[in-house]
Amino acid sequence: MTIPNIKVRNPRDGSYDSEIRETSAEELHVLASGLRAQQKPWSRQALKLRAETLQAWADAIEADSNALLQALTLDTGRRLISLMEVNGAVRTIRRWCADVQTLPSQADGYARANPQVRYQIDCVPYALVGCISPWNFPLTLALIDAIPALLAGAAVIIKPSEVAPRFAAPLRALIDKVPALARVLSVVDGAGATGAALLDEVDAVCFTGSVTTGRRVGLRCAARMIPAFLELGGKDPAIVLKSADIERAASAILRASVSATGQACQSLERIYVERSVEPEFRARLIELATACELNFPDIGKGQIGPLIFATQAGVINAQIDDAKAQGATVHCGGSIENLGGGLWLRPTVVTGVSHAMRLMTEETFGPVMPIMAFDSAEEAIELANAGDFGLSAAVFAGSNDEALLVARELEVGAVSINDGALTSLIYDAEKNSFKQSGIGGSRMGAAGFTRFFRKRALLIQEGTPASMAMFEEGQVRP
Ligand code: NAD
Repeated sequence: MTIPNIKVRNPRDGSYDSEIRETSAEELHVLASGLRAQQKPWSRQALKLRAETLQAWADAIEADSNALLQALTLDTGRRLISLMEVNGAVRTIRRWCADVQTLPSQADGYARANPQVRYQIDCVPYALVGCISPWNFPLTLALIDAIPALLAGAAVIIKPSEVAPRFAAPLRALIDKVPALARVLSVVDGAGATGAALLDEVDAVCFTGSVTTGRRVGLRCAARMIPAFLELGGKDPAIVLKSADIERAASAILRASVSATGQACQSLERIYVERSVEPEFRARLIELATACELNFPDIGKGQIGPLIFATQAGVINAQIDDAKAQGATVHCGGSIENLGGGLWLRPTVVTGVSHAMRLMTEETFGPVMPIMAFDSAEEAIELANAGDFGLSAAVFAGSNDEALLVARELEVGAVSINDGALTSLIYDAEKNSFKQSGIGGSRMGAAGFTRFFRKRALLIQEGTPASMAMFEEGQVRP
């Protein structure tokens, strides 16, 4: 049976101007076998040599990123963020190469319970790691786990999203420029079927995407007894206490909600404001939101790009309609515009919302800022902790100490204090997703590297092994 090609939509004009081919399970199997064979010599190399290979790749990307940039721009309909992704990829490779100078704990010593036993600890990388990524930051999220996995000594197969897959071909060309890397890193095309087939070929999975798919991935990995590092969706809350600098809060919350058109897992999607300052905050947020401009018709102007995934536009629309039907007020934005065939949504501020509305409980993934007033910090904490997500959050207060008191009560993996969505900019601080926003070791900080190793303890008996005499009943134990 021939599998039909997957048509790819252009987010700026709505045309289906590109297509990719699903990678068959057989092709994946052949690819995985080849990478496995190459992984052994790769992992036996000194870490320094692997880092040199990755550095050469960073140099290759930097020297010739035009095709990659063009493809990413077509994939996402945005130019500046595409450039940030390409430059960010180069920086991320170089940063990991600099940070990872030694393998994690290679300690050896003598066992305290039996000093005649010497131990050594090997760090053994997973042989083949599968990275499955979403469409919102196609390049960044394709590489975010692949880079430390490669440095750890794993071979990697990346499966980008079928919604924004054009960048894969130029990325493959840049990998091919570094033959030592091409032997252990592959990027395959395909949709869910390819992703599902990949789960059956690899030894560990890094998945970034929705909770629904993440659960499927987790279940399959559990059945195969392989680790799944799942980085899933969010419904990040912001809390603005009455002591906060309202100008600062409004400006930071706007940026953290609507940059990348809200198509980011760490976007602030629920804003809880202390009642006495809510009118001032709301008025300023509406003012700032209204001043934002679309990157249309000129991609080189404005701040707000098109919605990348037409299906998501439908989700956003349905959530706004549901909120309006239940009495919410839309102050600006609020309706999806078809401009030149692309789908656009201006920054949208909504009030009169409640947790009975989908807009306050389901991931929106668009530039929508629903505001709800609260009367006490305890109430704000309860509201912020409601729901199934636990990715990250933001707290604004007059002092960091006051904000930290609230932050420590939030069931999330990261809290930005007096700013929003800092997790997209900060990579040193380890964090784990709470609740349904994911599971598995931190991709940030040192754990982003060490999680790709299993430890193997080598226990060397330098004395005389115990015999069965020690199990003789009746003897008096020392
Ligand atoms: P998605 O879950 O629909 O798809 C993600 C990837 O999974 C795609 O490559 C897709 O082809 C693949 N896939 C689909 N079915 C599969 C299966 N059965 N087995 C294996 N792979 C399969 O997500 P999306 O719509 O591409 O991305 C948006 C979601 O990603 C949002 O929920 C967003 O919050 C989340 N996200 C999370 C983070 C994070 O770091 N936590 C970052 C970015 C995006």
